Amino acid sequence: MSGQLWRKNLINITPYVAGEQPKGDNIIKLNANENAYPPSPKVREILDSYKPEDMRRYPSADAGPLREALAKRAGLSVENVFVSNGSDDVLATAFRAFFNSDKPIVYPDITYSFYPVWCDLLKIPSRTVPVGEDFHISAQSLYGEGNGGVVFANPNAPTSLAQSREFVRDVLEHNKDCIVIVDQTYVDFAEAGIDCLDLINEYDNLLVTHTFSKSRSMAGMRIGEAYGDAELIKYMLAVKDSYNSYPVNRLSIETGVASVQDEQYFQSTLKKVIATREKVSRQLAELGFEVLESQTNFLFVTHPGFKAKDIFEALREKGIYIRYFNKPRIDDHLRITIGTDDEMMQMVEQIKAFIG
Ligand SMILES: *Cc1c(COP(=O)(O)O)cnc(C)c1O
Repeated sequence: MSGQLWRKNLINITPYVAGEQPKGDNIIKLNANENAYPPSPKVREILDSYKPEDMRRYPSADAGPLREALAKRAGLSVENVFVSNGSDDVLATAFRAFFNSDKPIVYPDITYSFYPVWCDLLKIPSRTVPVGEDFHISAQSLYGEGNGGVVFANPNAPTSLAQSREFVRDVLEHNKDCIVIVDQTYVDFAEAGIDCLDLINEYDNLLVTHTFSKSRSMAGMRIGEAYGDAELIKYMLAVKDSYNSYPVNRLSIETGVASVQDEQYFQSTLKKVIATREKVSRQLAELGFEVLESQTNFLFVTHPGFKAKDIFEALREKGIYIRYFNKPRIDDHLRITIGTDDEMMQMVEQIKAFIG
């Protein structure tokens, strides 16, 4: 057996499992919460004028132009903004920078399944708190002297539900000795009054994360950002510079800036997605589904008469991919991304055909 002992020192982790990435012309992909619409035409202009010789040069080390554009839009200073390769990388950087306590970090049992993956990878002690029967998070469950940190998504995934700003404030008031991360990936699809970005001016232990992947239609470019007190951002930059000081590539910086500067297009895309969401919610409710009140670009639904897995498989057979989670508490639910009106019509038709 000599020469085999290195195996006991291998990393032992369970990786995050993303939604399937099926290929083919006739498929309808509603399983990764990607946007139904393309990014701003201003992004197209950047691509059209892009000179390959520019690729010779390293990008801006701190994604300066993109941080500036985001700061300007949010009415903040560039020192309050961090940018990296998708919000997954932003969150991983934040976990490394802020969750170094012996106390466990706390997050809801039903939430984005990357949080446990990072805790595992980075050896961060953690504790989950159950969401209610109605899938809402209770603020009290996140209180705690004993918390090493708190992280939750608002609106949450895969439940699609949002908690109020008062909820966020409540959690912050009861967690003054640790960092609280609010993952606002889906906030642009939520009603006014959910966004708590401005609370970073009041709470220096609040970090708000966001991404270009969902509301800005740019999942393939890998851009995510975080907002917080300048001191928090300084620590995140220090962590980033300790393992990869050129995070975001040149094209992502330039197209990202173009997206941020086209507010009108951004708002019009959000409106379309929300209108489709409301329409499809009603259609599914008419078919007997229980549809949670979505504040995101996806629906979380269950049908009392049919198994979620059976509906999932029936749709997949027709080339329509939605998300089924084989996990306790949610294995009777389905997560359906809002596609175009046409895609959603086809999805609803196939569900009708299945349930007869
Ligand atoms: C999609 C998603 C992310 C990650 O987005 P990327 O920027 O593409 O890495 C983070 N949090 C939640 C809750 C998400 O749904």
